[in-house]
Amino acid sequence: MLLSIVIPVYNEATGLPALMARLRPIARRMDADYEVIFVDDGSTDGSGRILTEMSADDRRVKLLSLSRNFGHQAAITAGLDFANGDAVVVMDADLQDPPELLPDMLHLMRQGYDVVSAQRRTRPGDGFGKRSTAAAFYWFMRRFIDQRLAPEVGDFRLFSRPAVLAVRGFREQHRFMRGLVAWLGLKEVTVPFQRETRAHGTTKYPLLKMLQLAWTAISSFSALPLRLTTALGVVVTLFGTGYFVYSVFSALVARTTMPGWTSLVCLQIIFSGTILLAVGMVGNY
Ligand code: UDP
Ligand code: MG
Repeated sequence: MLLSIVIPVYNEATGLPALMARLRPIARRMDADYEVIFVDDGSTDGSGRILTEMSADDRRVKLLSLSRNFGHQAAITAGLDFANGDAVVVMDADLQDPPELLPDMLHLMRQGYDVVSAQRRTRPGDGFGKRSTAAAFYWFMRRFIDQRLAPEVGDFRLFSRPAVLAVRGFREQHRFMRGLVAWLGLKEVTVPFQRETRAHGTTKYPLLKMLQLAWTAISSFSALPLRLTTALGVVVTLFGTGYFVYSVFSALVARTTMPGWTSLVCLQIIFSGTILLAVGMVGNY
């Protein structure tokens, strides 16, 4: 049995040796052969050179180099596409996802689970800002997007071979891996772990990138924004109808308007409302 360990890397040069030093003995002790697939996501800090050397020294270390920075989710996708293992695990390069969990995850897969996801029980390593935005993110996603999303589960996850093949079937450009896994309805189990502080370097997920990820998640797994457009169309149309009546009254009865004003206002109201409604409808299809 072969275990593929997929690790996306974006400017992690300082931490890579420590990562391999901690990962290697654990992987060796496991009752499975292993390969480590690093995906260099367009690093500019020399990570690529270090990874090239590592892969030259050790036949178990493989390297995929992306031409530019495509983002974490795309890097994971590339890794999953090239992983040959009977089990494939995705983990961060910064040691926030402890490799010590791998034997347990593999054990659970052997008991018949397709997806084994690691769940952050505590995150002493993340500051207040990161923790609170993450909590808001999971709350929002579960409330409005998909109930099946497990809270506090990131991308540290082990897939069985059939699960990898199922995930590979999805080729969307903007991906939200967690949503995909939840949507596929694979037999999933979570294992709790303590999320440590980043061993080296800084986070590659500033607020803006988190918001982008949230938008990808929302737009690929929910029609909520489209439904909101329709709802807005209804509100605008109702308000417009009231104003329409008022304008006609002012023009014909009260005679308080300039000639031409009423027809302009009425046309404007009718078309804005209808267009918004139509956009929402088209979107729903
Ligand atoms: N990463 C990547 N491409 C990116 C951003 C991040 O490959 O554009 C990698 C990064 O090197 C790390 C993992 O994805 O291995 C998770 O990123 P990070 O640890 O910065 O996220 P956080 O743990 O702070 O949410
Ligand atoms: Mg991290």
